[in-house]
Amino acid sequence: MRGAVMYGPGDVRVEDREEPRIVEPTDAIIRVSAACVCGSDLWPYRGVEDMRWPAPMGHEYAGVVEEVGNDVQNIKPGQFVVGSFWATDNTCEICWAGYQSACVNRVPMGMLGAQAEFLRVPLADGTLVATPELPAYDLIPSLLSASDVLGTGWFGAVAAEAGPGQTVAVVGDGAVGLLAVLAAKQLGADRIIAMSRHEPRQRLALEYGATDIVAERGEDGVAEIKELTDGLGAHSVVEAVGTQESMMQAISSTRPGGHVGFVGVGHEVAVPGMDLFWSLVHLHGGPAPVRRFLPELIDLIWTREIDPGKVFDLELPLDQAAEGYRAMDQRESIKVLLHP
Ligand SMILES: [Zn+2]
Repeated sequence: MRGAVMYGPGDVRVEDREEPRIVEPTDAIIRVSAACVCGSDLWPYRGVEDMRWPAPMGHEYAGVVEEVGNDVQNIKPGQFVVGSFWATDNTCEICWAGYQSACVNRVPMGMLGAQAEFLRVPLADGTLVATPELPAYDLIPSLLSASDVLGTGWFGAVAAEAGPGQTVAVVGDGAVGLLAVLAAKQLGADRIIAMSRHEPRQRLALEYGATDIVAERGEDGVAEIKELTDGLGAHSVVEAVGTQESMMQAISSTRPGGHVGFVGVGHEVAVPGMDLFWSLVHLHGGPAPVRRFLPELIDLIWTREIDPGKVFDLELPLDQAAEGYRAMDQRESIKVLLHP
């Protein structure tokens, strides 16, 4: 089968990979209907994050079940399924608490390489959620987005306690940030401030429910947020970048007693103790427990209440994955969908 493999920074190739087969009786094999390039795939692509090369790439997927292992009970061949970037049992104490991304038996899907024609999904019963029937073709991008970026943006908004009566600010205008805007809107936030300096992304943020756009960054960005909130700061701030600047911007934009939901994968982020001490904010975040939200998100997509698939502004055949990485790295594309 064809699959994307990264050989080093900036070097993505699509080549013949061994077709996956059932290894554990709890596995499923799916035929990938759509895969995509994640913002977090850009960290190794840019050489910021080291990996063991060559590495199969991709951790976001939606597709049709081909085969299941003997112990799989709920997932059946022929179903259309979505799963998160962690395979999880969904039965351990941590999963029950809603933190499936820290499941005691979790398996990282990125190691298995979802940017491919077929994918082995461990712990299929706990990981995969099936749609009511085979989806209309135009719903597939939105269903794929639930696998990571929608689920992650949603967790950011939930962790920031976005809700009615709240002003929510979102730091980061990648797919996760934009979908955090959508999530904040769905969760009932009164006012949603999107921080973005890119016109096409500002437009999508407004479409998803942003009421204000702040183009400034750093201290100027914080000052602008304060000005929009009577000098107090936002109740809820979603951090969806993962840098020192974005994290400090998020904390500084939050009012005392408010909540920061951080979902950008933190690289070299060190929060100064005194800043944290005096901020009086709640901090909650990490790898999103997407599985917690999947049934609800699939339902919202199925009934066409939300259209998160609009974040995919470039669709390419899998064989052109390298071009997809390049376009996202250059910020020419918000998010790239790959057709296996
Ligand atoms: Zn678990």
